[in-house]
Amino acid sequence: AATVYYDKDADMKILEGKTVAIIGYGSQGHAHAQNLKESGVNVIVGQRPGGPNYDLAVSHGFEPMSAAEATKKGDIINILLPDEVQADVYRNEIRDNLAPGNILMCSHGFNVHFGQIEPPEGVELLLVAPKGPGHLVRSEFVSGGGVPCLIALEEGHSPETKAVGLAYASGVGGGRAGIIQTTFAEETETDLFGEQAVLCGGAAELVKAGFETLVEAGYQPEMAYFECMHELKLIVDLFYQGGLNYMRYSVSNTAEYGDYSSGPRIVTDETKAEMKKILTEIQDGTFARNWILENKAGAPAFKARRRLERQHPVEKTGIELRRMMSWIDEKEV
Ligand code: NDP
Ligand code: MG
Ligand code: MG
Repeated sequence: AATVYYDKDADMKILEGKTVAIIGYGSQGHAHAQNLKESGVNVIVGQRPGGPNYDLAVSHGFEPMSAAEATKKGDIINILLPDEVQADVYRNEIRDNLAPGNILMCSHGFNVHFGQIEPPEGVELLLVAPKGPGHLVRSEFVSGGGVPCLIALEEGHSPETKAVGLAYASGVGGGRAGIIQTTFAEETETDLFGEQAVLCGGAAELVKAGFETLVEAGYQPEMAYFECMHELKLIVDLFYQGGLNYMRYSVSNTAEYGDYSSGPRIVTDETKAEMKKILTEIQDGTFARNWILENKAGAPAFKARRRLERQHPVEKTGIELRRMMSWIDEKEV
């Protein structure tokens, strides 16, 4: 089982006299910066001007500066930019402003694990990753709770870097819930696998295939939407509260019987074999190389696919139906 740390294992004193530079005031950045500040840590923000996140940082009492300047002034530098822009900003603004003894942090290991960010001599790497979106990291902290965090260090790290990691995780609220020890490889590979095979890729394709099957058989798209997309939330809420057992306890016996008899015909041995291939391509860097090269080319295939996916019939039906359901905090993007 995993090693888990709590607030009692963290000593905030290790951050006294140190400056934490948060690079990027987006989803994670705004939450880390404010939570740490309210935990008594000296926080500065590196955020480019000209957009709403700059103004947000100002309205929260920070004086945002460039990533280069924040790196120079910081002892502990956390890069909280989108993963696909981190390497460029690192090379152009961060790397040459790091000094020996600084700690370079991230909240997802993609760039470190796949060799896009390599710190200079004397700078250790540290990962602290809340297992939740930034708004939750902030709202839980404000209400006295916290989102569980992961912590990862490199082999041969100094004890001080680990102590900084525990204090940082505790300062963002993670020590109230649990700080789970992992590695850069495990965090990166399981995160990519989860989003590809199950959470984003797997779930989206399952919904589309179910919707298409009903519509192609002549059923009304509205009915297909309710059965294959809308009701998924009710099921996932049951998973979230009590796992598969609670979902099966809560649904009808007919639904439970159909789950057992038909589910394994949808996710088959072939599906599982493909999952293993996907995992191998994550582990051996094939996925990372493709995504990095795609971005270097201006993301043409990514943008084309995004445009096509946006036009799927389930999206058209969904927009109309969600407008009828006043209790949904509906979003149109
Ligand atoms: P966001 O997309 O919310 O970050 C946006 C920030 O990056 C903004 O400050 C934005 O500035 C800045 N930015 C974007 N592009 C550039 C650029 N080209 N040059 C300079 N600044 C830029 O990121 P997240 O908070 O979602 O993710 C940050 C890290 O945290 C990632 O490593 C991610 O994997 C990880 N993470 C994210 C989680 C999540 O739920 N979101 C959960 C756990 C980890 P501007 O406003 O000016 O565009
Ligand atoms: Mg991810
Ligand atoms: Mg039903």
